Amino acid sequence: MQKKETIIIGAGLVGSLLSIYLSKRGYKVNVYERRGDMRKEDMVAGRSINLALSDRGIKALEEVGLMEEIRKICIPMHGRFLHHADGTTAFQPYGKEGQFINSVSRGELNCKLMDLAEKHRVEISFNQKCESINWQKNEVIFENTLNHELQTTNFKLCFGSDGAYSAARLTHHLQHDRFQYQQYYIDFGYKELNIPAGENGGFLMEKNALHIWPRGNYMLIALPNTDGSFTCTLFFPFEGEPSFAGLDTKEKVRSFFKKTFTDAEQLMPTLEEDFFRNPTSSLVTVKCFPWIREDKFALIGDAAHAIVPFFGQGMNCGFEDCSVLNSLIDKHNENWSAILQEYQSLRKPDGDAIADLALNNFVEMRDKVADPKFLLQKKIEAAFSKKYPDKWIPAYAQVTFSPQIRYSSALVNGRKQEAIMQEVMSLPDIENKWQQEEVEKIILEKLKG
Ligand SMILES: Cc1cc2nc3c(=O)[nH]c(=O)nc-3n(C[C@H](O)[C@H](O)[C@H](O)COP(=O)(O)OP(=O)(O)OC[C@H]3O[C@@H](n4cnc5c(N)ncnc54)[C@H](O)[C@@H]3O)c2cc1C
Repeated sequence: MQKKETIIIGAGLVGSLLSIYLSKRGYKVNVYERRGDMRKEDMVAGRSINLALSDRGIKALEEVGLMEEIRKICIPMHGRFLHHADGTTAFQPYGKEGQFINSVSRGELNCKLMDLAEKHRVEISFNQKCESINWQKNEVIFENTLNHELQTTNFKLCFGSDGAYSAARLTHHLQHDRFQYQQYYIDFGYKELNIPAGENGGFLMEKNALHIWPRGNYMLIALPNTDGSFTCTLFFPFEGEPSFAGLDTKEKVRSFFKKTFTDAEQLMPTLEEDFFRNPTSSLVTVKCFPWIREDKFALIGDAAHAIVPFFGQGMNCGFEDCSVLNSLIDKHNENWSAILQEYQSLRKPDGDAIADLALNNFVEMRDKVADPKFLLQKKIEAAFSKKYPDKWIPAYAQVTFSPQIRYSSALVNGRKQEAIMQEVMSLPDIENKWQQEEVEKIILEKLKG
């Protein structure tokens, strides 16, 4: 049953990590990447300059022995720093004391993963674009993006980790009876903007937080970079008022930001240039099934489950895919038919769950975080969870800080908790009596049901 020769399509975050896991187990791994080598070329690594790395991703990086090095380039973010429309600010911790997420450069993380992969004798071929897969002959056709020559590569075991618009998924899809495929674009796009570092590389806003300017149906966020700058992302409607379509001149952009994100605007000297130079990108959720073919092929990472970024979990989920797969290789002793079957049956419900959780979190980030009633609800939950930590872990903490809880369980638990909290919040005079024993008793009672 041993399959020591493996090919991986896509040397992004997930493909690179997977190659390390497999090569550490003695597999001979060849990775094929459409782009050039980002370590040699001055290129943008892809979507979003920095990412929030949290416990599920950290667990995987620890397993391959890379976390110590990555920690050096991480900036801990202990909570949300809210910039309200009236000019006031507030800090909301993400979890208990000591719980935080990390801002990390996507490019640096990807480069370090590729370096480690090559240290473990993984061969990465760049400028090789997967064109199609012949499932009868077990061959992948790659096009060299520099000279357009086609090359055919045989495989015994192949992973498609080529991202949200996966070519491997498409060819799997087109040649699979009853392949289920669902693609959903939200009506909002995103654009990256910049707040530069202050003098001597100082941070112009609180460094250890994820900044949010919640504005109802849209928002601006900012994550810190190690050079003192912040990468801001505007999540904004494509059409309507206001929208990307409406902000069509430099003057309109500056004036909109001045009015809407007043304190941020003052820190954005290159706002107009950034706005019109950087692309407006779309946000897609992809759900599909099956993820695997017999004992020879599997989708992994965004290729299997592209999600919107509002829970900061896309990469973390992809890294967890790799960790789960690795544990199944042990469990099934290299029997790849059994490994892939169980990988799919474990990860498909979790991929679907985090996709739904991520969509819901958009509303929380852009809108609810500024609502006093919602903040009171979070305060009640936090107080109850502090007193009864084994009875109540807040939904955000289940997803972000609790890799032992599956995403699918976090979704179910979160829904149950939300229903309980809706009842609690509808109690008369809850604003004044939330600390009373009566409220605690109600929650305890409801939890039994
Ligand atoms: C705005 C935004 C913010 C985000 N923030 C976070 C966050 O804070 N935390 C988090 O965990 N996740 C976040 N994500 C999600 C995260 O970016 C993805 O989940 C992650 O990049 C998935 O990794 P991947 O390797 O599966 O895919 P990708 O990173 O997309 O890598 C795919 C690789 O395959 C290559 N490729 C593509 N097509 C082919 C082909 N035909 N042949 C060969 N190679 C090919 C690509 O060049 C690329 O290198 C965010 C996403 C967005 C859009």
